[in-house]
Amino acid sequence: MTQTVDPTLVDHPPHPALATLDARGISAWFGDHKVLDRVSLTMPAGQVTALIGPSGCGKSTFLRILNRMHELVPGAALAGEVLLDGHDLYSADRRLTDARRQVGMVFQKPNPFPTMSIYDNVVAGLRLTGTRVPRATRDDLVEESLTKAGLWREVRDRLRSPGGALSGGQQQRLCIARSLAVRPRVLLMDEPCSALDPTSTRRIEETIAELAAEVTIVIVTHNMQQAARVSHRCAFFLASHGTPGVIVEHGPTPAMFDRPQDQRTADYVHGRF
Ligand code: ADP
Ligand code: MG
Repeated sequence: MTQTVDPTLVDHPPHPALATLDARGISAWFGDHKVLDRVSLTMPAGQVTALIGPSGCGKSTFLRILNRMHELVPGAALAGEVLLDGHDLYSADRRLTDARRQVGMVFQKPNPFPTMSIYDNVVAGLRLTGTRVPRATRDDLVEESLTKAGLWREVRDRLRSPGGALSGGQQQRLCIARSLAVRPRVLLMDEPCSALDPTSTRRIEETIAELAAEVTIVIVTHNMQQAARVSHRCAFFLASHGTPGVIVEHGPTPAMFDRPQDQRTADYVHGRF
C-alpha cells in the first residue's frame, strides 16, 4: 500500500531567523467605510512594537492585516503591501496557511480549546497551520513551547487536564504556547492582558520581554505603562472626527513618551485624551 502525503503539509521549520515586518501604504475598508488610510510602519526584527491609540482607530484591523485575517471578513477590502523580510505576505503563490505559520496571533480574550487537554491545545496550532511534526519530537516541542510561554512548571504534571480548567492568565499563556509551537517569525498580540489581573499581566509582560530575542512582537495595548515597560518602539494611531485611522507618530518608546513631536501624542501618552 502506498502512503499518500498531504501536499499542503510542510515540515516544521528549524528555529527560524528573526524577521522584520514592513507595512507599506495600508488602507482598509469595511464595505464603503474606510478605517485605515495609507498606514506605513516598519516593525523591526527582534523588537517589540506597541500600537497605541484610542478605541476605534483601526489598531485591531491593522493587526489582522498583518496575518491575513482581514481578508476573511465579508466585505473587507485592503490596499498596500505587507512584507515579511522583504517578501510579500499577500503574494499569489503564498498560501494563507503559510502566512499564518509565519505570523502568529494572540487575542484579547484567552481562547484555548476549553475541553481539549493542555497538551493538545499546544499541538493544535500545528494542525491549524498545516505544520507537520514527527510524533517523536512532539513532547519536546510541547515542553519547549510551554517553557517559553512561562507555563511549563505549573502544568507539567497535568498536561492531560482540559485547557479550560486553567486560570485566565494561564489560559492566555497556553494560547501564547499554542502560537509559539508553530515557531512563527512574528507574534501579534491584541490587548493580551486586558482581561487579566495585575499579577497575570506582569507574568505575560515578563514572557514578552524574554520572547523578544527570538520573535518579532507587535502588541496592541491601551495601558501606557505597559507600552513603556514592554516595547522598544511605539506607533500612535488616531482617527479623528470619523476620518480613517492614521499613524500620527512612531518611534523609539522613550522618545514617544519623553519628547513626542506631535501635541496629540503627548496628550495621549500622558492620559489627557
Ligand atoms: P481599534 O482596535 O483601534 O479599537 P478596530 O480596528 O477594531 O479599532 O476598528 C476600526 C474601525 O473599524 C471602527 O470604526 C470599527 O467600528 C470598524 N470595524 C472593525 N471591525 C469591523 C467589522 N468586522 N465590520 C465592520 N466594521 C468594523
Ligand atoms: Mg482593538
